[in-house]
Amino acid sequence: MFTKDGKDDSRYNRDNIEFIKHSSPTVGELIEREYERQKGNIELIASENYSSEAVLAACGSCLSWKYAEGYPEAERKTGNRGRYYGGTEFVDQIEEYCCKKWKEVFDTDYHVNVQPHSGSQANFSAYRVAVDPGDTVLSFSLDNGGHLTHGSPVNFSGNLYDMVFYSVDHNGFIDMEDVCKKARECNPKLIVAGASAYARTIDFKSFGEIAKEVGALLMVDMAHIAGLVVAGDHPSPFGHADLITTTTHKTLRGPRGGMIFSKPELAKKVDSAVFPYAQGGPLEHIIAGKAVCAEEALTSEYKEYIHQVVKNSKAFCQAFLDMGYKVVTGGTDNHLFMLDLSDYHFSGKDLQDELDKIGITLNKNMIPEDKRSPKETSGVRIGTAPMTTRGYLEDDFVKVAKRIDAKIKEMEKYL
Ligand SMILES: *Cc1c(COP(=O)(O)O)cnc(C)c1O
Repeated sequence: MFTKDGKDDSRYNRDNIEFIKHSSPTVGELIEREYERQKGNIELIASENYSSEAVLAACGSCLSWKYAEGYPEAERKTGNRGRYYGGTEFVDQIEEYCCKKWKEVFDTDYHVNVQPHSGSQANFSAYRVAVDPGDTVLSFSLDNGGHLTHGSPVNFSGNLYDMVFYSVDHNGFIDMEDVCKKARECNPKLIVAGASAYARTIDFKSFGEIAKEVGALLMVDMAHIAGLVVAGDHPSPFGHADLITTTTHKTLRGPRGGMIFSKPELAKKVDSAVFPYAQGGPLEHIIAGKAVCAEEALTSEYKEYIHQVVKNSKAFCQAFLDMGYKVVTGGTDNHLFMLDLSDYHFSGKDLQDELDKIGITLNKNMIPEDKRSPKETSGVRIGTAPMTTRGYLEDDFVKVAKRIDAKIKEMEKYL
């Protein structure tokens, strides 16, 4: 794993790169360069993280060679057919174990499907369970902090469903009164809650009550905050939502992938919305990685890690506030925050590009009521999950804030 001062305290990655070079010097060389980039950079992208080497190893294992369309025997109680291939004895046990462990992580009796290849595919299948094309969905738009799959016109969601969006108030907080008003007006079949660029606690309980009142299903997409839910640093959507989707590679620190949890009565629909509707054979090697990740998430060390992620985020954000910067919503409750650059003559993209040159990686992001285009943006999103994995504490992030401040001051002069 990479250390905080840009070293690597194991041989895992380097040995594997040498192995790849035997077959393809070009690919091996490029992976090596990416490895060096990651090792030396300060990674502030809020959706990224460094999974353990055990997770990486599971993802690179012989399970990648196995076809296993369908569901393991234990999942047949939901009415599914079993597997469509022979030789699934061991991948069955791995997938069943994975499901069992994730239910343990969230202490839930919800059904779980661990096969979605990504967060977007999990959402694709979850929509299929709740709505038909043309149905009304009330959701959080991309430019306010939602995800592409929450109804953007360039995504299947905006294309297939009749989207209505609730908004944020003038301070940038989700406006629950607006959610309630719009829900009563548009009578949606589904309400979507969750975000990719929102620094505040989301009130899943109120979302659940509103959904119930208007007879809609509630889907919570906890892709970003799932790790915080595990550690008790964000209220849980379990008990309030009918469908819960997540990625496994963000704060959960697992392999790149997705999962869907649902109320037990939706289990059969969820499973058939994943396979055969959206996907073919499951990635059993990634599912093994998800199982290892669950096991890690059950440890007290993981919960300590998440507590530190949140503490770091608050200290990092405060350092910017102390230096006079504007932050969307004026602070953060979670692992990320958004700098508001609308008063500057350079854009979020300019800052992203300039920081890239000095080895600090973050991403430009739209902020509420952004006057710049999505290609330019007036904000940047900053997250603490990856560098906290590498051992960063509050002081380390305050130092990074000062480096970013110095760069901004320089840009004010020369750009
Ligand atoms: C990241 C994210 C997704 C999509 O995940 P992918 O694995 O990139 O498809 C979905 N929803 C939210 C809220 C996200 O932040």
